[in-house]
Amino acid sequence: MSTPPVKKGELVDLQIEKFADRGKSLAHIDGYVVFVPGSVPGDRVRVRVTRRRRGYAEGRVEELLEPSPLRVTPRCEYFGTCGGCTWQHIGYETQVASKWESVRDAFVHTGGFDLDAEGIELLPAIPADRPFFYRNKMEFSFGAQRWVTDEEIASGVDLDRGFALGMHVPGRFDRVIDLQVCYLQSELSVAIVNATRDIARERGWEPWDVRTVTGYLRHLVIRTPRHTDDVMVNLVTNGYDEDRIGEYAAFLQSRFPEVTTLVNTVNTGVAQVAFGEEARVVYGPGLVRDRIGRFTFEIGPGSFFQTNTEQAEKLYSVALEFAELRPDDLVYDLYSGVGSISLFLAEHARHVVGIELIEEAVVAARRNAELNGVSNATFVVGDMLEVFGEELLDEHGVPDVLVVDPPRSGMHPKVVERIAELGPERLVYVSCNLQTQARDVAMLRDAYRVEVVQPVDLFPQTFHIESVARLRRR
Ligand code: SAH
Repeated sequence: MSTPPVKKGELVDLQIEKFADRGKSLAHIDGYVVFVPGSVPGDRVRVRVTRRRRGYAEGRVEELLEPSPLRVTPRCEYFGTCGGCTWQHIGYETQVASKWESVRDAFVHTGGFDLDAEGIELLPAIPADRPFFYRNKMEFSFGAQRWVTDEEIASGVDLDRGFALGMHVPGRFDRVIDLQVCYLQSELSVAIVNATRDIARERGWEPWDVRTVTGYLRHLVIRTPRHTDDVMVNLVTNGYDEDRIGEYAAFLQSRFPEVTTLVNTVNTGVAQVAFGEEARVVYGPGLVRDRIGRFTFEIGPGSFFQTNTEQAEKLYSVALEFAELRPDDLVYDLYSGVGSISLFLAEHARHVVGIELIEEAVVAARRNAELNGVSNATFVVGDMLEVFGEELLDEHGVPDVLVVDPPRSGMHPKVVERIAELGPERLVYVSCNLQTQARDVAMLRDAYRVEVVQPVDLFPQTFHIESVARLRRR
């Protein structure tokens, strides 16, 4: 193979052609691909080559020579530095169209499918009604090393560089941007962030310092369910301090009576995670409720719940429609989490069996079934690889329909093999990772035909997309 036409460190002018996987864009130099994160198809850019491989290079935009007509002015002043949004610089319609293309590309390039020849129907992506303020949960971090943006330096204001509450800079787990605004969750959420920062600084409560692994304040997690007035604040701290948390509770109750529950999660470990050894309920019930369709879910501080409630309802409705349930069907819901899909399916089937690794999620799933009067759903705890086998089939019966919603890594190849052997008539594959979905579905191609694929946008302002595929046994 010939040597790549660029060198590391070199400056090149490029015409950006199209979006590539994971929100990057790409250009060609004599057939050689250069990926340029942050650029937009139609841009002319001056790019510094940051990485060179045999088959492709990566570059960073040094100068935008001519902006693409697809560009819009980002709403947020932190866009480009903050790790929360990656696509605010393109209009929402373009985002949705590009996500649709990424679904097609995953099926064609990763899966090796020929959509037309194989009669695979790829439906237009279902957009979000609200491209901003859609999240029901945000996790903010405290940090002792504040990332100062160019605008902040230019403002000339004297800044405290030793305290930040906001989001991480991508790839920089030691740096936190001090966010004064954010358009992803709600105005209340931003007000809580700003007021929490003020009281913490005033009282001298130290933020977490990743270098010395000291400091009291680690994360601030806010849950604002879409369909109820519940609000949870979860302050994650390094150790339990009765006086400080008491003071914070009194402050929240007087300033934000909207907050219905305060939880104090204690995390003394080194890992930068917003869960910990112990979640103490400081006041209120220690959980919030939200509704998807006619179902109410109780969400504790550690529970997984789709972060976009409105779009989750659309996603589950597609899964239900694709399952084509008949009243006497037995359905297995693999990777069932807190049972949200299972409950959606149960009223249209004879019985649903949900299988899930995390015990806490299974306990929540059973509780959610009870809460909603669903008596024909059973939840099983265990690793799919171990649990999804003969014994389970003997106990619960052979499913007519299988719904799967695996984590980003997709399904274990042995689980895919078992599905092919078992051969239920319909298989609905819900996925948040196009590459692993296309890979798994391709492994099933001898046994199953892909009939229809429906992308659903749950994550506006990012390149992420959910995709639901229906497969039918050949
Ligand atoms: N369907 C659910 C959650 C899907 S997220 C919903 O829509 O709410 C994927 C789920 O797969 C997570 O709950 C995760 O705990 C579970 N999981 C991950 N690896 C697993 C494994 N090896 N076996 C069983 N479940 C697993």
